[in-house]
Amino acid sequence: AKKLTIGLIPADGIGKEVIPALSSSYSNSPNFNFIELNAGFEHFQKTGTALPQETLDRLKNECSGALFGAVSSPSHKVAGYSSPIVALRKNLDLYVNVRPVVSVASNKDPNQKPIDILIIRENTECLYIKQERQTVDEKTGLKVAWADRKISEYASRRCGKMAFEMALSRDKIRQSLRLWDTRPKVTIVHKSNVLSITDGLFRETVRGVKENDSMYDGVDMEEQLVDSMVYRLFREPHVFDVVVAPNLYGDIISDGAAALVGSLGVVPSANIGDNFVVGEPVHGSAPDIAGQNKANPIAAIRSAGLLLEHLQLHTQASAIYNAVDDVLKTGTFLTPDLGGNSTTQQVTDAIIKYLPDSHDMT
Ligand code: NAD
Ligand code: MN
Repeated sequence: AKKLTIGLIPADGIGKEVIPALSSSYSNSPNFNFIELNAGFEHFQKTGTALPQETLDRLKNECSGALFGAVSSPSHKVAGYSSPIVALRKNLDLYVNVRPVVSVASNKDPNQKPIDILIIRENTECLYIKQERQTVDEKTGLKVAWADRKISEYASRRCGKMAFEMALSRDKIRQSLRLWDTRPKVTIVHKSNVLSITDGLFRETVRGVKENDSMYDGVDMEEQLVDSMVYRLFREPHVFDVVVAPNLYGDIISDGAAALVGSLGVVPSANIGDNFVVGEPVHGSAPDIAGQNKANPIAAIRSAGLLLEHLQLHTQASAIYNAVDDVLKTGTFLTPDLGGNSTTQQVTDAIIKYLPDSHDMT
């Protein structure tokens, strides 16, 4: 079989630990070639560019997909710097970010339906167009800051379509595994009661995806204002299936949802476009624990699984998810965020050992 080339972009902080932990364990793989590519704030400080043209060119010309670590974007303005992951999503038109939030196996209460939410975050617009400016208020002489927010019918529709498609395919898998028999459901998150033009367009467009296509008749649809969405998410997380949201709300509710399943260190994501996919843990560069070999690698490993899934390598993807679950179930190899004292590399190696046939898989 032809080797697939995967671009690895560790970037900053714990990205530099979780991505190498994974690739070093796979380094002799007969199925994959890895090429390491530069990006990030540290790279910007060294070279003046956060996302080198070479990285973009090699992703487009040589890679089937990529895995991104995390970037340390400073909270103050730095002249000439902007986030390379935001730029990458734009540049490769990775228009949705899918974030499966599932309960960690060892936490499962057999009497309750597990948490199994798929958050679909619009990935190209909203406040992330970064059209900000500052003026001075004439009356007070004090500064005023403004930001434009873009919501388009085009982006909302393709994001909504992805949500209903995924609700259907998740339902198919659940039925084939004879898991709990709830109907598939899409929850639309917005704040149209206040932002009736922008969020109103998102809401109306996503609703239209179902209303105009009988293919989605079997998928239930509900909507939830973003504030009460957070409340419901914390109160009754197991009732949600697919959740679709504009960019910023999607970002915020995913970190909250990660707390429900143990840690940000276990929640993966995939940035998906029509021509490319970039796996990426939901967490950031975690400066508070960087360099200590204690970052949880599971979010990055599951992101590799998502990457394989979207490259149609379903068997390999399931093998990764199952190996992660197996290790979590033993309760022996856990990083400190999950209450253990294993290192990043120990957890990674344990997961690799659980892969069914390490010769086939790696
Ligand atoms: P963060 O996700 O980096 O960390 C939040 C908390 O979760 C911290 O306590 C951290 O220790 C913990 N955590 C995160 N990942 C973990 C893991 N794998 N294992 C164990 N614990 C983990 O969020 P933050 O602290 O708000 O942001 C830090 C930096 O990351 C900022 O510069 C921010 O811009 C950047 N960031 C980048 C991305 C990205 O690359 N896509 C996403 C979010 C934040
Ligand atoms: Mn985030």
